[in-house]
Amino acid sequence: MIEAQRRFDLLTQRARHDVIEASVEHARTLYRQDQMEPGLAAQFRAAAAALAGEGTNADDTRRAWSALRERVRDVHVSRRLAEITDSLVLGATSGGEVSTATLTFPDNSYLIMMDHGLSNLTWLIAQLFVVSRRTPLLGHPPPGNPVGITAAAQALRLTTARIAGGGRAGVNPSLVLGRDELALAGALVREIDIFVLAHEAAHILLGHFSEDHSGLTAVGHPSQLLGRRPHEETAADLLAVTLQLDDMLSTGEGDDRVIALRLTAVRLFLALLELYERSMFVVQPTSHPPAAARWRTIVSERLTRWFDDSGRLQYDDIELVRTLRELDAIPRLSDAAAVHSGMGERLDRALWSFHEWSQVAALGHFLMPAPAEALAALTRWPGWPADADVESEIAGLVAEVLAAEEARAIVRAAVSGEQVVSRLAAAAGLTARADAARKDATTHTDPFPSWAIAAIAIDALTETIARWQR
Ligand SMILES: [Zn+2]
Repeated sequence: MIEAQRRFDLLTQRARHDVIEASVEHARTLYRQDQMEPGLAAQFRAAAAALAGEGTNADDTRRAWSALRERVRDVHVSRRLAEITDSLVLGATSGGEVSTATLTFPDNSYLIMMDHGLSNLTWLIAQLFVVSRRTPLLGHPPPGNPVGITAAAQALRLTTARIAGGGRAGVNPSLVLGRDELALAGALVREIDIFVLAHEAAHILLGHFSEDHSGLTAVGHPSQLLGRRPHEETAADLLAVTLQLDDMLSTGEGDDRVIALRLTAVRLFLALLELYERSMFVVQPTSHPPAAARWRTIVSERLTRWFDDSGRLQYDDIELVRTLRELDAIPRLSDAAAVHSGMGERLDRALWSFHEWSQVAALGHFLMPAPAEALAALTRWPGWPADADVESEIAGLVAEVLAAEEARAIVRAAVSGEQVVSRLAAAAGLTARADAARKDATTHTDPFPSWAIAAIAIDALTETIARWQR
């Protein structure tokens, strides 16, 4: 047995049989199997059987790897991928992390594991894109009753708020899709999986594994932070997108609709990571460049060189991605209500708890309010003395918090690049510091919104850190 297999068996937990059965049964009701084309129904049964046999999505990952290999036309790369496949174990884990890890072992075997936390998020953005789009995809016209684009974007933001607040990744609002929609979302997710695997394969092909760097992650979870090697990540992204399109690049011919599907998948994936990074971190993992920078590099170094008519493919102007960027003007507090009313019959109400997701929205609001919301909470606080210069008081508190040890530790982490700082940890530390800064002030029945002082301080810190990274 190769070492990668032994390690994989040690690392993965098998789901209990009754849990798998219940999941498959629920999926059966969800995907309106009676309406399915025979081919699609067969695919569904195969996926359910794989899930029932293994308890994970590992089978999807293996299919994506096969699809990647079939796409590569370059003889040398193709031969090398065949060699790698002989000593490769592909698996899925269910640790609730937004990550993919590649590990290498002394017997030259490799283990690539994609976590369900990441798979479930990519499945959600693919579904939301399909049901909210107003443009054709793979020749299929947009839905007659599309979900509002803002509600779709808010559903994604709400889901990442849950993770940022300390929740397990992969617990998403569940959606109901029709026949074609399911097939299209599946096609998008397959392309996302291919890109993620191509990125990991690129690290192996480019020789990025050495004795002192035996593991890399596609999206670094804090516990798996592995040091800063941005040039290798850029090289892996550029080779990944090349491998993903190699069948078309080598012949110089390709169906615009297929190219658009593949590029849309990559764009959605990196937009999702960008949203995750912004929601999750004040100082983000430095094992990979920020997702926004990764996409810009792919566009400038590859896509604009390959496709002169980028307007036709629209890979850089996707409405859902644009809307995600514009969400800052909408309070996070409204996210649960927007999903509740905006998703209509697309929302799987058997699994949707409005109460629970409202709490997630409130948590997101406290962790990451818009600057105007934080300022409004402070100026509206009824406990200010009548003669107080409120603006100066707020500015003084923010300055005091920024000078405190907790804020200095965040700056040090960003400078050294050796430690991540989550929003949750930063908010807890700086809110406590803002509370302490007011310890001599008069008490009032309305608690002072120290969280808002912390939020303004965090905003200032993230702005500064983002400028360093540019
Ligand atoms: Zn990487």
